[in-house]
Amino acid sequence: MYNGGTMTRYLFAFALAAAAFAAPENFQTTAGALQLTPIQHASLMIQAGGKTLYVDPAEGGYDGLPQADYILLTDIHGDHLSAPIISKIKKPDTVIVAPKAVAAELSGVKVLSNGEKTTIGPFAVEAVPMYNLTRGPSAGQLFHDKGRGNGYIVTYGGKRFYFSGDTEAIPEMKALKNIDVAFVCMNLPYTMTPQEAAQAVRAFHPAIVYPYHYMGSDTAEFAKALAGTGIDVRLRNWY
Ligand code: ZN
Repeated sequence: MYNGGTMTRYLFAFALAAAAFAAPENFQTTAGALQLTPIQHASLMIQAGGKTLYVDPAEGGYDGLPQADYILLTDIHGDHLSAPIISKIKKPDTVIVAPKAVAAELSGVKVLSNGEKTTIGPFAVEAVPMYNLTRGPSAGQLFHDKGRGNGYIVTYGGKRFYFSGDTEAIPEMKALKNIDVAFVCMNLPYTMTPQEAAQAVRAFHPAIVYPYHYMGSDTAEFAKALAGTGIDVRLRNWY
């Protein structure tokens, strides 16, 4: 017998699950389409060339998402590194790229340090610095020490995607060149303000920028600070 209540509850649960992910963002490259799905906070998934790459799969739900061919990890903090989620999405041959500090906490990692490059399947990966200039848990300490974590530049089909990791507006970010799509953090006390992020983004001038890792920050302020620059600011719901 048809049970309307159960069906309604089922559909409602399905809608909630679907709403847990922002709509995928689609990019055209010389190697074909690339689809990038924001998952939550700093967690996202890239699908291109029949491969799936996750960046910092540590927050949000992973039910129904494909197993990882590749995983990039930026840092040791719980909003970037989650061993249970990695076990859930990992296959026996998944390649995990991370800085040395992460390798100390997770086995089977290919270590990449700031300034080093590697290729994983169709993706070229470069590790870039991410660190605090001034902010930390107490005087004389920083939340993110220089050299511990990696931001990443991922190139696919000629398009360069930058993932900032947790950082302030460091000179190395301002000096980035030819970034097509940037994902930039902005939250206090751990990283920087939307205004500081906008100042850094102005300097390296990506074609497109997405705020991510912005819990508690007003991303509209970031967009306003970049008005008139010609940079395409894309505000999405990452929470
Ligand atoms: Zn973080």
